[in-house]
Amino acid sequence: MKHEFKSESKRLLDLMINSIYTNKDIFLRELISNASDALDKLYYRSLTDKKIKVDKEKLQIDVSFDEKKRTITISDSGCGMTKEELESNLGTIAKSGSLQFKENMSKDEKIDIIGQFGVGFYSAFMVSDKITVTSKSVDSLEAYSWESEGADGYTIDKAKKDSVGTEIVLHIKEDTENEDYSKYLNEYELKSLIKKYSDYISFPIKMEVTHQHLVDEKKQKYEEHKEIETINSMVPLWKKDKKDVEDSEYDNFYMDKFNDYDKPLKVIYSNVEGMTSYKSLLFIPSHAPADYYSQDYEKGLALYTNGVLIMDRCADLLPDYFSFIKGVVDTEDLSLNISREMLQESHSLKLIAKNIESKIRKELETMLKEDRETYISFFKTFGVQLKYGIYNNFGADKDKLKDLLMFYSSKHEKLITLKEYVEQMKDGQEKIYYASGSSISKIDSMPQVEQVKDKDYDILYLTEYVDEFAITAIGEYESKKFANVESKDLDLETEEEKENTKKANESNADMLKEMVAKIGEVSDVKFTNKLKNHPVCLTTKGDVSIEMQKVFDAMPNDLGIKAETVLEINEKHPISNKLKDLYKNDKDGFDKYTKILYSEARMIAGLPIENPTEISNLICDVISK
Ligand code: ADP
Repeated sequence: MKHEFKSESKRLLDLMINSIYTNKDIFLRELISNASDALDKLYYRSLTDKKIKVDKEKLQIDVSFDEKKRTITISDSGCGMTKEELESNLGTIAKSGSLQFKENMSKDEKIDIIGQFGVGFYSAFMVSDKITVTSKSVDSLEAYSWESEGADGYTIDKAKKDSVGTEIVLHIKEDTENEDYSKYLNEYELKSLIKKYSDYISFPIKMEVTHQHLVDEKKQKYEEHKEIETINSMVPLWKKDKKDVEDSEYDNFYMDKFNDYDKPLKVIYSNVEGMTSYKSLLFIPSHAPADYYSQDYEKGLALYTNGVLIMDRCADLLPDYFSFIKGVVDTEDLSLNISREMLQESHSLKLIAKNIESKIRKELETMLKEDRETYISFFKTFGVQLKYGIYNNFGADKDKLKDLLMFYSSKHEKLITLKEYVEQMKDGQEKIYYASGSSISKIDSMPQVEQVKDKDYDILYLTEYVDEFAITAIGEYESKKFANVESKDLDLETEEEKENTKKANESNADMLKEMVAKIGEVSDVKFTNKLKNHPVCLTTKGDVSIEMQKVFDAMPNDLGIKAETVLEINEKHPISNKLKDLYKNDKDGFDKYTKILYSEARMIAGLPIENPTEISNLICDVISK
């Protein structure tokens, strides 16, 4: 019976097979990696389950080809798959990836799809027009065979196979005008692909290799003989001395193991000997994985003990704020039979996690100092995660992370650190000024920004919604407090200006009080001297800023957290005298002006106008007079 692929799988498969994948070569490394994983799984089971016996010597991967039949066969003596596993593992592509998949389609980044969804197996369809997978699971007495010719679907039938493991037969496509598929049906080509991409695989990858030897020197006569050989060097990459490894080997390892189509931004290698010894090979990806900001994303490092994989993603090895790090850790100090619960309590593991955290942090600090461009690229991708890290856990980690933050500076017009801001503060400047908004240009045109810029003070522009929460959690940097330019008490006026404002507010107290009552939502209405050209603005008292209120408003459950706002009116603007005049002579006009001015202030602050029709009618009333 023929089974259809799940519909989204079908589209993905179609797209992948027909897309111009720049590197078809990777199909072999994907299949070998799967085989290696299967061997890892079986070996681990045998160490923890006495009923399962395996001979370590026999754990291997075999690669062969048949030029005439146009087939390549990859087989392993790993854990194998049951009928159900064949169905669920090979019948659905990218189980959780439907949303991101759609997003990617629109970006026309077809090439990226394979890596992003861990659909490694299907990459074999780039070079094959038919694939047969015959597998016998360690948990089953029967063997089954899965077969597919691509997007049409697949069949699963009972099969004959004596030993536990999986055999994959690829039927290689015919050559076309543009594509040479036959090149894969060649000993030298396959051998170099294995060497290039799978050298570090810790199980032997065996292949029949042809040797020539001279039998008659005078006649230069050679004879051929064939021999099965192990092609890969089998030393896991993290066990090799750093100086013996080429950068491209680390890159290939990363791309293979973590299903990325791009090289990592940074490779971090450690070899620690001491109370707890371990080797680790960590990577900072150059872009966020497709599911990074979804709930499906699982952080963690692959954990090996003595070369045996005991856990694919050990979450306890990474703090949340470094959840984007990928990599492996290998230690001798853990027992194989360790359960997840025991692992969490393990003292060695905690020590390793602590070391890893500080190693990553130091590497980032160094990158910021010595390779700013790369750091900025990192920060643009993962900076949000660091900012979350600052205010999560009630700010417990803020001191570790605050020097890794960068914000856009109004003066320098680029990202700077808090340290750089403070170092360049002007004489007499007491505070670190910041302004929040949805974009740099919007912040630039805020009335409150002008006043601070006039004093020649730098302002940090916070454009991401987590920014202000992070800043608030930090509280102060090198004893300098942060001040939002929209807060009421910026205290930037001269004594004379202050005196003028005070007088204006006192002599018009009744009028201002009436405006507060009319508007209803503001806690105060005040004359101000701080607005140069702008007539009005909205400022806040207390801890909740307008930008923070927008974040709270966007949350699904109404927490009832509101910013305490103040409507400020430019005392030097002609509108001030107009208001005073209306208050005395035209109460109706005064009402209208109050409503219009308050709506203007809300608009500038990016807040919604509750009744836009009413306001636009009022404006028309006023201007048509
Ligand atoms: P990934 O390896 O990223 O999970 P694949 O599409 O390459 O995605 O493989 C899907 C799943 O099929 C694997 O996770 C594994 O469970 C199973 N699988 C693939 N190849 C083998 C194999 N040789 N032996 C056992 N299981 C396999």
